[in-house]
Amino acid sequence: MPLPPEDDQALRQAVIDTARAMNTLGINQGKSGNVSARCAGGFLVTPSGVPYEALTPDGIVFMDLGGRYRGTLVPSSEWRMHLAIYQERPQAGAVVHTHSTFCTALACLREPIPAFHYMVAVAGGTHIEVADYATFGTAALSDAMMAALGPRRACLLANHGMIAFGADLRRALDLAVEVESLARQYWHARMIGTPVILGEEEMAEVLRRFATYGRQPKDLPPGTPQALEFPTRMD
Ligand code: 13P
Ligand code: ZN
Repeated sequence: MPLPPEDDQALRQAVIDTARAMNTLGINQGKSGNVSARCAGGFLVTPSGVPYEALTPDGIVFMDLGGRYRGTLVPSSEWRMHLAIYQERPQAGAVVHTHSTFCTALACLREPIPAFHYMVAVAGGTHIEVADYATFGTAALSDAMMAALGPRRACLLANHGMIAFGADLRRALDLAVEVESLARQYWHARMIGTPVILGEEEMAEVLRRFATYGRQPKDLPPGTPQALEFPTRMD
């Protein structure tokens, strides 16, 4: 399917709705964080320092993949992180960056999220890494983020927050919510003891199951091995 053009009003509104949803869902506060979505020739991103309630579709900024922008407002100060993900991760259709409380707390301790719970696989790997500290809005932060992401779709940002990407805005936001929830669970487990960390073999099995989890058998390409054991259908 072709990507929507940069002036697509529905996509611009969806970027705003996602930015507002970060705050109403409790994974971000105030003007912190930023959101973007891929479009034809580049991506649409929230402007810098504008409260999300005040945003209108024409305030959303277009950027091309060469790092130039078009808009009435300047793009998010973190445009380099968004740009790097669109340049280097072809599967990325949207990016959500937040200062969610538990991810940020762990990131301030420079603590990655290990496989304390099988759901860490939701980010595409066996743990969720913390990017080295760099000043917000710099190329150094974007480089550190790309290194921490590796093959995964989310990472923590030292003394700052977290970032997640997905095929579309819904999936990027869902992943950000899930990673914050994992950070909260890990925090609570650490408060009362030492969580047991799942091994490589156990996590490899989880990742194998995640490849088809949530998909109906009819929607999978023919011959796809089914990782989950379903009960027998009655009809
Ligand atoms: P912007 O308002 O420039 O997007 O900055 C928010 C932020 O989270 C910086 O890291
Ligand atoms: Zn930030």
